[in-house]
Amino acid sequence: MPSLDDQWFTEVFQDEGTAFSLKVTRKLHEEQTPYQHAEIYETETFGNLMVLDGCVMLSSRDNFLYHEMMAHPALFTHRNPRRVAIIGGGDCGTLREVLRHPDVEEVWQVDIDERVTRLSETWFPELCEANEDPRAHFFFGDGVAWIKDAVPDRFDVIIIDSTDPVGPAEGLFSAEFYRDCHVALGDSGILVQQSESPLLHTRSIIQSMHRDMREAGLSHVHTLPFPQPVYPTGWWSCTLASHDNPLVYFREEDAAERPFVTRYYNESIHRGALAQPQFMRDQLEG
Ligand code: SAM
Repeated sequence: MPSLDDQWFTEVFQDEGTAFSLKVTRKLHEEQTPYQHAEIYETETFGNLMVLDGCVMLSSRDNFLYHEMMAHPALFTHRNPRRVAIIGGGDCGTLREVLRHPDVEEVWQVDIDERVTRLSETWFPELCEANEDPRAHFFFGDGVAWIKDAVPDRFDVIIIDSTDPVGPAEGLFSAEFYRDCHVALGDSGILVQQSESPLLHTRSIIQSMHRDMREAGLSHVHTLPFPQPVYPTGWWSCTLASHDNPLVYFREEDAAERPFVTRYYNESIHRGALAQPQFMRDQLEG
């Protein structure tokens, strides 16, 4: 493939008047899947880069921040997480983190686009290293319809690792979907959703997410910010929703003694992420 020396991949955020660029050495792959336009680049300093519909999904270098935060805070808050569903997450990075928990017995990954998983197997094999784990199950289809059909109380944790709330992912950011997740979780389950940038989206997406999750019957809703350099503003978040207060039920000792290696997550990072910046407190609780 031709070298793209001195070229940059740029994602422009029109509404915010900002852009993020990475110097790319070559384009490794490009295709139109049935659902989205996929591109894979090799970058000079961030390893491989996956882009869907022009939006950066992940880079080899910094995806550990996001994937560890999507998995471990929820799994170290639930009393005994054994059955987990991941809606979206086709790159398999969140799946790998969930499977690090030895007591997890079963994980379903439900992504609408099988091509994302196949591309990840080729270009991000380290994220897919747990795909052969017998506890891992794959279903390729719409997560909105799949969760509607789930048996009540089927899961302990549901992780919504989706693209932004446009196109096929729009329905994953709705009160009706959260109600269906609540049924599939029962009263002791935990829902976690990637919730965009605290700086850009607290007033818009995160605020309505809190309202919709509460309306769906999950009374404790808490957003945990964390760094993510390749996403807009470099600052991202996940939102936990449950009947039990995540500030009280955090299994801090278990997190400190976790029997696996992490690069970002630890018990102090978890505790720190539960602290709410003042502007978020004002906008979400005020
Ligand atoms: N970390 C990423 C981010 O925040 O930008 C998300 C990564 S993951 C690749 C997102 C996945 O959500 C994509 O593979 C996409 O196919 C999937 N997705 C979007 N809408 C979906 C739906 N309705 N049901 C299941 N998967 C969906």
